[in-house]
Amino acid sequence: MENGQIADRLEAFASLLELGDANPYTARAYRRAAETIRGGPSSVADLVRSGRVRDLRGIGPGIEARLRELVETGQIAELAELERELAPDLVGLGRYLGLGAKRSVEIARVLGIRTADELRAAAAAGELRGVPGIGPKTEARLLEALDREAEPRPRRGLLLNRAWELVGGVAAALGGEVAGDVRRWRDSCEQLAVVCAAEEPESALARFAALPQIVAMVEQDERRAVGVTVEGVPLELIVAEPRGLGSALLRATGSAAYVAELEPLPEASDEQAVYRALEIAWCPPELREEPFRGEPPVLVEPSEIRGDLHCHTTWSDGRASVEEMGRAAIERGYEYLAICDHTPAVGAVRGLSPDEVRRQGEEIAAANEVLAPFRVLRGIECDILPDGRLDLPDDVLAELDWVQASVHGGQRMPRREMTRRVEAALRNPHVSCLSHPKGRMINRRPENALDMERLFEVALEEGVAVEVNGLPDRLDLSGEHVRAALRAGVEIVCSTDSHSIRGLGNMALSVMTARRGWATAAEVVNTRPLQAILERRRGG
Ligand SMILES: [Zn+2]
Ligand SMILES: [Zn+2]
Repeated sequence: MENGQIADRLEAFASLLELGDANPYTARAYRRAAETIRGGPSSVADLVRSGRVRDLRGIGPGIEARLRELVETGQIAELAELERELAPDLVGLGRYLGLGAKRSVEIARVLGIRTADELRAAAAAGELRGVPGIGPKTEARLLEALDREAEPRPRRGLLLNRAWELVGGVAAALGGEVAGDVRRWRDSCEQLAVVCAAEEPESALARFAALPQIVAMVEQDERRAVGVTVEGVPLELIVAEPRGLGSALLRATGSAAYVAELEPLPEASDEQAVYRALEIAWCPPELREEPFRGEPPVLVEPSEIRGDLHCHTTWSDGRASVEEMGRAAIERGYEYLAICDHTPAVGAVRGLSPDEVRRQGEEIAAANEVLAPFRVLRGIECDILPDGRLDLPDDVLAELDWVQASVHGGQRMPRREMTRRVEAALRNPHVSCLSHPKGRMINRRPENALDMERLFEVALEEGVAVEVNGLPDRLDLSGEHVRAALRAGVEIVCSTDSHSIRGLGNMALSVMTARRGWATAAEVVNTRPLQAILERRRGG
């Protein structure tokens, strides 16, 4: 068995675990293992036979047992059983309608059906009301949702990292290009689209329908199809004629308002050629929200980032040590990394006392001995207390190389109080940067009530930077507020807030979000060399 086939089966297993509402960590572990196996140089079948497969990253005893079964018998019995029981396309359609996997399976059992098409037919024939627990109201809601099925709009957007993984995976499998919200790096993606080119569309459409990521098809035209994923999110495939690929890509990338202003688009095989024919400069997708025909600025690039100024270690809630994080930063080509663990007021996780901050300082000094000329900076993510004071005494803060100030608890404060609280923290002369300024968690928690304009004024006066936090569920500031901060003259920092070595990889999400706010390298503090960071800290 080839690595690719093994990875496909593990991925299918992960999808079915997700459909079955299993523990999301289990499904994720299988997905990661599939990724490792697909990219690995050595034959996994051989490793299994020689008992060495657990040497691979992310493969524990549970996954090893499945791999052994797969290599020895050619199948995973539980996977076959899940496939029999769960009818992926039906559960996928159920998800899309807002039904949990168990509920979909129950309904299917009562109606004696197995597929998504049979569910549609039963609904159209008015059979849903015969299912226990479905009253006229629920039936009306489901019928209405089925009516809207073809519109590519989920109720809630996908987080950007998941959306990239999904749409990027589909694009790669079809030899196509990522379009839609994902290509514009929106912080929450609803319009998922892939564009590919073919004279004859049939084979691309058929391969799309057969992908493991697509569990049900909700619409299909001659050159276009909409499939639904495990999460119940619609994903659109457009198969352009090769001579019109550029125009189709531009159209599918959006936004609708941006494209509408450029229509009618000339037909061209690549996007650059469309722009040339329009006689305007090519526009980075991140800037295509509002109509724009001008010359775009030269935006900051991920490769221009010289260090990460916000990350955690095992001293608070991170998973790697100071030295491990430092080595991982060196591997990314960085010159510096600020360790910013939590302070006690954060509550939910461990925070550092003044004494521990100093002991951590010794560990950082020791790491710098080994890692020089790379520099681990002594930083902190210091809580802003409800009254605006910081959670560590000034003399401790004064010792540090970098101070992030963060609101964590008490986020429901009225706007005036909250603004005053953050303003007081920005006035503290030891603060370098305001973390995740808006305090939102995408899809989970609204942003704090804050007078951002006022905060940008104070940040400018005090020389404090504001963060573009790269955690996929934060992306805070968002592009729109980055733009407002830069217009106010405030500098930004692109950070990952990573809690693991892997988390350092979220820098791209931060930088692309900054690009959505029209940021150039000169406006991003951590595009500068170490010396400039240290001088900035001393007020130089
Ligand atoms: Zn934080
Ligand atoms: Zn943090």
